[in-house]
Amino acid sequence: MTIKALHEALKNKKVSAREVVISYLDKIKEKNGELNVYLEVFENDALKQAKEIDERIASGETPGELWGVPLAIKDNILIRGKIASAASKILGNYVASYDACVVEKLKKAGAIFLGRTNMDEFAMGSSTENSAYGPTKNPREASRVPGGSSGGSAAAVAGGLAMAALGSDTGGSIRQPAAFCGVVGLKPTYGAVSRYGLIAMASSLDQIGPIAQTVEDAEILFKAIRGKDEMDSTSLEIRNSKLEIKKIGIPKEYFSAGGVSAFGGGDSLDPQIQKTIDEIVKKLSQNYEIREISLPHTKYALACYYVIMPAEVSSNMARYDGIRYGVRQDAENLAETYKKSRGSGIGLEVRRRILLGTYVLSAGYYDAYYARAQKVRCLIAEEFKSAFEEVDVILAPTAPTPPFKIGEKINDPLTMYLSDIYTIPANLAGVPALTLPSGAQLVAPHFEEKKLFEVGKFIEHG
Ligand code: GLN
Repeated sequence: MTIKALHEALKNKKVSAREVVISYLDKIKEKNGELNVYLEVFENDALKQAKEIDERIASGETPGELWGVPLAIKDNILIRGKIASAASKILGNYVASYDACVVEKLKKAGAIFLGRTNMDEFAMGSSTENSAYGPTKNPREASRVPGGSSGGSAAAVAGGLAMAALGSDTGGSIRQPAAFCGVVGLKPTYGAVSRYGLIAMASSLDQIGPIAQTVEDAEILFKAIRGKDEMDSTSLEIRNSKLEIKKIGIPKEYFSAGGVSAFGGGDSLDPQIQKTIDEIVKKLSQNYEIREISLPHTKYALACYYVIMPAEVSSNMARYDGIRYGVRQDAENLAETYKKSRGSGIGLEVRRRILLGTYVLSAGYYDAYYARAQKVRCLIAEEFKSAFEEVDVILAPTAPTPPFKIGEKINDPLTMYLSDIYTIPANLAGVPALTLPSGAQLVAPHFEEKKLFEVGKFIEHG
């Protein structure tokens, strides 16, 4: 059932919130053991929330669009009174003392939280294999990864273990798992959704966004969580009403060898994905003008991201020292306590990024790496800006390959990083991007999510 369908059914008293929640809880009981989608299920709270909804409906209130909608929440988004571990051991006992802005909004809107979902530790990864609590499996094929880092949230929606979900996207973590699991995922414009209460990974790139079964559902959720929040000074209130979509751009570099990666290798688009994109182009051409565009700096995006992101990660991770948050390993003195707590609480991929980030920020290297990467980031953002003077929306793949096997890439970080070559540019530029179940990705100018929904719906139904 979609959010839209549930809303109708509740209004017409065809179903109760309790029945719906119970059906999801049953599905979770049946499948979570195998898939490892949820790290924790809030059975009692969900039933209590459903009861409240049913009572309000019984007393004659008209249900809002999100009333009774059973959602899965990524484990890096704070829900007051619940553990938020970011799938890390070091936060294994951390109980959130406040609601994230998005959670507060969804609570007020009457949504129900089924549980917190598995992810790559601190959102660093592309397969959910970097969780300290075991990998999540792709519900469509259990030998394969669901993508990451919001793998649990995408798998929950794809496997029928939640009606919709929230994820976070720093370099592709909503869109790549959405593509791998065959669902819809939106990375909003940077600043469209408050990051207050999101466990930070790389603060200039992080955004919270919806994962849903349909474009319409993603739109409903996005509208419920967006907006300026005084607790996040980077958030903004912008509503674009002008909607005129005539031209769709296809970046030629995305489809030519060497066009998207300066590393060589790994960037040849899988023929299956090329075929999907070709079919979508054909469909879009019935309604829109298709134009080839050029984004020549795309090939530096991955390298740029892997300087800026670890730099921010190294700063954000400094707070997990065993003193202020989470699990402490007691030792003789303060320095030893830090070392032991971080050494045993933080996983290898996160550690790699702390090391990389500390290195690129260190005296003597800052200009060569971090400052230069910031310049490249500017060029990439400028490039999108000029592209959007020519076209209204850009069509791209989300990932270069279909879901890979569990274990296939885990020992080869560079190959793993290459899974994000098509998603990272939107984070660097701050523009919104929508992934469709087919794996196609649409990109729009800042705060023009509406264009994504419009074109997304055309592809979905048109
Ligand atoms: N997979 C990318 C990374 O490992 C993106 C992660 C994310 O968006 N949180 O950094």
